[in-house]
Amino acid sequence: MGIVVQKYGGSSVADAAGVKRVAQRIVNAKKQGHKVVVVVSAMGDTTDDLIELANEVSPLPPARELDMLLTAGERISMAVLAMAIQNLGHEARSFTGSQAGVITDAEHGRAKIIDVTPGRIETALGEDAIAIVAGFQGVSQTTKDITTLGRGGSDTTAVALAVALRADVCEIYSDVDGIFTADPRIEPRARKVPRISYEETLEMAAQGAKILHLRCVEYARRYDMPIHVRSSFSEKEGTWVVRAEDVTASNTNEDRTMEAAIITGVAHDRSQAKITVVGVPDKPGEAAAIFRALAEAQVNIDMIVQNVSAAATGLTDISFTLPRGEGQTAMTALARLQADVGYDRLQYDDSVGKVSIVGAGMSSAPGISARFFESLSDAGVNIEMISTSEIRVSVVVSETQVQDAVNAAHAAFALGTDEIEAVVYGGTGR
Ligand code: ASP
Ligand code: MG
Repeated sequence: MGIVVQKYGGSSVADAAGVKRVAQRIVNAKKQGHKVVVVVSAMGDTTDDLIELANEVSPLPPARELDMLLTAGERISMAVLAMAIQNLGHEARSFTGSQAGVITDAEHGRAKIIDVTPGRIETALGEDAIAIVAGFQGVSQTTKDITTLGRGGSDTTAVALAVALRADVCEIYSDVDGIFTADPRIEPRARKVPRISYEETLEMAAQGAKILHLRCVEYARRYDMPIHVRSSFSEKEGTWVVRAEDVTASNTNEDRTMEAAIITGVAHDRSQAKITVVGVPDKPGEAAAIFRALAEAQVNIDMIVQNVSAAATGLTDISFTLPRGEGQTAMTALARLQADVGYDRLQYDDSVGKVSIVGAGMSSAPGISARFFESLSDAGVNIEMISTSEIRVSVVVSETQVQDAVNAAHAAFALGTDEIEAVVYGGTGR
């Protein structure tokens, strides 16, 4: 049997009991004959606590030191996990990201992995030890400083190591049983998806479904590494994230004729805000100036809608969504443009939410948007913005109507199950 990489999220190792439970699971995998590499996140809310601590001593913690601080969270869990495994009579060795050969660029707080050289991990495996690696961290190739990959980055560590070690599978353990057709916390009839393509998972994750770190899915897709998303609190088979061909091949004829196959899931996101630039003169270069200014301020734009200009005034409105945390930066950058662009005023709304339906089948099925929008109208939900991709339709709605919208879409595409399937064991979902 080959190499298995297992990643355990913070909720799986929240306390000593959790660490012992996970240690037992790891030992079981080893006893089945696998070579086991484990990537572990910080215990429970450690990362949040450390960020809070940093903010207490400094209003703007220097990025280098913040990274050094945050990586301590994962170092605690890797060491205690190795101890717990040794206590069960098996050899285990912990490694920091840097020791494990996770080489990144120098962007503190959002470093990208550029190479993985897992020599020490291979040596440990060769000596029949279990290797435990601190997630979410690496070392910069240029500055040699310690970096972090961004919140939730341990998923990406796990997939990158799995690829570098040519593992058979990357198992990602959290406190839910897999990927569901909607977030079980707001859709109790959510059903577990047995197999889902990389592309659909990327869309779901990008649209706010808190399933996997976006970059980990991109990485897995690029190198065709199967991910098995499952719970560390149960033995149930979870969700396999695989190539689109492998999803289709595994579907039975019955599945293929089922409507549920058209839509794979409903994602929602409450972390966005909407800005409207009202009364923009309808002439070339205005949108370019607005979005150039936002780009220079490092604001990430999601949906953009420009209205048809009113013939009488020659003015148009441009609305876009962005992460709420970047709202202030965006408003400041736009305010500086008012004289140049000559717009009327800015509107800021952070009580919006986004609801998306995702499914590879929709590109060949007519009427999907109509059915989605009808379900929203029947539920009394007003649509503020719409955007689409090949395999997704998203709407922006009032934040107070997000749950209604998710429930309506979930029902309209017959995604639900009568038996309650979803159990959230730990409480945080990660
Ligand atoms: N501990 C880090 C975080 O909470 C990384 C991770 O959990 O993947 O963001
Ligand atoms: Mg975490």
